[in-house]
Amino acid sequence: MEFSQQLSTTPKSAEERAKILADPGFGDYFTDHTAVVDWTQDASGKGVWHDARIEPYGPIMMDPAASVLHYGQEIFEGLKAYRHADGSVWTFRPEANAARFNTSARRLALPELPTDVFIDSLKRLVSVDVDWVPSGEGEALYLRPFMIATEAFLGVRPSHEVSYRVIASPAGNYFGGELKPVSIWLSTQYARAGHGGTGEAKCGGNYAASLAAQLEAEANDCKQVLFLDPTNDFAVDELGGMNVFFVFTDGTLVTPELNGNILHGVTRSSVMELARERGLTVQERKITIDEWRSAAADGSLAEVFACGTAAVITPIGELKTTDESIVTPETGKGSVAMAIREQLLGIQTGTIEDTHGWLTRLV
Ligand SMILES: *Cc1c(COP(=O)(O)O)cnc(C)c1O
Repeated sequence: MEFSQQLSTTPKSAEERAKILADPGFGDYFTDHTAVVDWTQDASGKGVWHDARIEPYGPIMMDPAASVLHYGQEIFEGLKAYRHADGSVWTFRPEANAARFNTSARRLALPELPTDVFIDSLKRLVSVDVDWVPSGEGEALYLRPFMIATEAFLGVRPSHEVSYRVIASPAGNYFGGELKPVSIWLSTQYARAGHGGTGEAKCGGNYAASLAAQLEAEANDCKQVLFLDPTNDFAVDELGGMNVFFVFTDGTLVTPELNGNILHGVTRSSVMELARERGLTVQERKITIDEWRSAAADGSLAEVFACGTAAVITPIGELKTTDESIVTPETGKGSVAMAIREQLLGIQTGTIEDTHGWLTRLV
C-alpha cells in the first residue's frame, strides 16, 4: 500500500523543536505529522483499507455521533523509535505489536490491519519526522498507533467506518528523574478486567476503567495501581499499564500467567527470554497476594519489578493498601531488574548486539 504525502506548512521551527527535545517529558509534545489509513465496509460486508497518507499533525474532523465517542470502539499500540550512534533509527519487535494490534482488533470487532501496512506507517511517519527522534540516554520517539470507529450512528454495532492513525511523541524517562523504586497502590475496590472481558486487548476502555483507582493511588503517594483477580484467590494480574515480575532468591523469575485478563507485553516476553539466557528459571504461573506477602516476610523474595515499553523496567519498592504495606528488598546495582534493563536498553539503542533479530530499521 502506497502512502501519499502532504507535508505540514507550519512545522515547528528548529529552535522550538530543540527546546522540546531538551526536556521532552512523556506524551506532552507531538511531531509535525501523522500517518492515516481509512477503512470502509460496503453493503455486502466487504471492508477495504484505503487512502494511506502522511498528513500534517492536527485535530481530527469527526461527526459528534462517531461511535468511538459513545461506545469506545478503540484500540491502540505503543512502541518506540531509537536513534543509534550512526544516526540510523530503529524500532523493537514491531511485528509483535502488529500481531497484538490485530488480536485487540478482533476483540473490539474492528478490522485487522495487515502487518506490512502497520510497519510501513511507522517507517513513513518516522522518515518525515526523523529530526524529532531524540538521541539522549534513555530517550526515544514514542509511537502511538491507534484505531477508532468513525461512523456516525447511535445504534450499537461495529462501525462500518474506521480510521487507523499513528502519532509520535518524543519521550524522556517515563516516571521522571532518576530510576528509583516506585510505590504501587493495591486496589481492593476496583478491577480493570474480568474473565471474558477486554483485559487482553490494548484498548482505551481498560484505561478508562483504571482511572478511579489511579486517583486513589495518587492520593496515597503511589505511581501506579496493582490489579488483582478477586475471583482467583486474589492472584496478581498486572499494573494499569505494565506487567509484573518477581525474582526469588533461589534464582526463579515468576510472572503471572496469561489468563485472559493480562496484556501480552512485548517487554514481558523479551524479559523472559533474556532471563532464561541468564540462567534464571522462568515461570509463568499464578502468584497470589498472600504468596507475595509471605515471601517478602520470610526473605525468599529478592526483587519485584514492572515492565513495559514506556518505562522499560522499573523496580517496585513497596506495595501499599489501606491497612498494610509490603516492602520489597532494595534492588540496587547488580540486581536482576537492573541487569536486564541495561541489556534491553543496550539492544534497543544499538550498543549491545541484537542476536535475537528484534530490531527493525525505520530510517
Ligand atoms: C501496553 C501494556 C503493557 C506493556 O506492554 P509492552 O508491549 O511491554 O509495552 C502492559 N500492560 C498493559 C495493560 C498495557 O496496556
